[in-house]
Amino acid sequence: MLCPVCNALSLLDVLCPKCGSSAEDEGRWSDWSGPYSPYESASFDSSDIASASEEYCLHAVRCIRCQIAFTAEIAAWHC
Ligand SMILES: [Zn+2]
Ligand SMILES: [Zn+2]
Repeated sequence: MLCPVCNALSLLDVLCPKCGSSAEDEGRWSDWSGPYSPYESASFDSSDIASASEEYCLHAVRCIRCQIAFTAEIAAWHC
């Protein structure tokens, strides 16, 4: 599979669930998990990652307006 956002083929098109502003990509979620995670006390549920489909690339995104961080599933392209 090919993630269009990771490969700069498509812009992230995710809106903040709280305020509706556009959110910016913070990279693949897998890059943010682990001991070096900047979101040490964030309330992310790691079970979400385990259940993520291979059809999606899970991204960490942040709202440019209210700065909340959340995850977005980017539909992968088949090639
Ligand atoms: Zn991706
Ligand atoms: Zn927001």
